[in-house]
Amino acid sequence: MKKHNFSAGPCILPQEVFKEASQAILDFNDSGLSILEISHRSPDFVAVMDEAQALALELLGLKGKGYKALFLQGGASMQFLMVAYNLLEEKAAYLNTGTWSTKAIKEAKLFGEIEEVASSKDKNFNYIPKSYSIPDEVDYFHCTSNNTIFGTQMKEFPSTASPLVCDMSSDIFSRELDFSKFDLIYAGAQKNMGPAGTTLVVVKEDILGKVSREIPSMMSYSTHIGKDSMFNTPAVYAVYVSMLTLRWIKANGGIKAMEERNQKKAELIYNEIDRNPLFKGFAANEDRSVMNATFNLVDESHKDTFDQMWKGAGVNGLNGHRSVGGYRASMYNALPIESVQVVVDLMKELEKKI
Ligand SMILES: *Cc1c(COP(=O)(O)O)cnc(C)c1O
Repeated sequence: MKKHNFSAGPCILPQEVFKEASQAILDFNDSGLSILEISHRSPDFVAVMDEAQALALELLGLKGKGYKALFLQGGASMQFLMVAYNLLEEKAAYLNTGTWSTKAIKEAKLFGEIEEVASSKDKNFNYIPKSYSIPDEVDYFHCTSNNTIFGTQMKEFPSTASPLVCDMSSDIFSRELDFSKFDLIYAGAQKNMGPAGTTLVVVKEDILGKVSREIPSMMSYSTHIGKDSMFNTPAVYAVYVSMLTLRWIKANGGIKAMEERNQKKAELIYNEIDRNPLFKGFAANEDRSVMNATFNLVDESHKDTFDQMWKGAGVNGLNGHRSVGGYRASMYNALPIESVQVVVDLMKELEKKI
């Protein structure tokens, strides 16, 4: 039986994508070859890479606006250092909203001075700091749009004089934003776009080439732009599956339609968290993530009962991250609202039982 998959990442992808992706392992494009055994230089795969890059820019509304889309390796974690390698000459500003921001700051410090403009660490990252100012003279400002672990999400982004860099790993393609406000966006594929193994980087070309240090070829965005993400062997299969997901998003109404579905799912679960006296939400209400809802039992002694209930009902991946405890429902684009309803019904059932 197919599970209701709330895993935070790698995570659920559309069922149609799984079907097509598995077919391509046996026979890709009726070529008599598997996608796993063809050259990344073959016309069939070059077409996949081209389409994936074009779809990413198109869905974000960035086509023809001076941006390049890259599919790199090393995860979002490698972007923590690659961003600084390529953009940090003297000083950059970072907003610290959780584990991932903290890691990004740690790496960037190897390359220059970092000003942490604000942090929500004082409350275990359960909110997004709002009143902070970004110095004008910094090389860039870095933020994390959605905090996968703590379940908070930035609803607004500051206007900056310097380039705006954002880790959108866990909410890219999930909601409409003015993406042209951003100069560099990166996202590990495995949260909302595809399998683990590739990372989407969307970069405005005119912010590059401004640092004085020498950048090793593999670390340089310019290298990868020059070679269309084929400087070395790309993660062929991960890029292919990501491309299929991007096609699926486009065919299903684009980001706008994803956002509408995601809003409905989030409302459904947050309404129950707020209504049900057995549960409480972790994140500050106004900063609640539409992608990852974090919540706890008011009385932890019901944990075993509730865990048995959802595990028995075919729900997967509802356990919270160890730094928050409790539960986390990750509701990425491909998760159907029916799965959220299953969890909500179980929460109601627990209330009746107790
Ligand atoms: C998962 C995640 C990362 C780390 O991604 P990797 O691809 O494992 O390096 C970074 N940032 C955010 C917001 C994430 O959710």
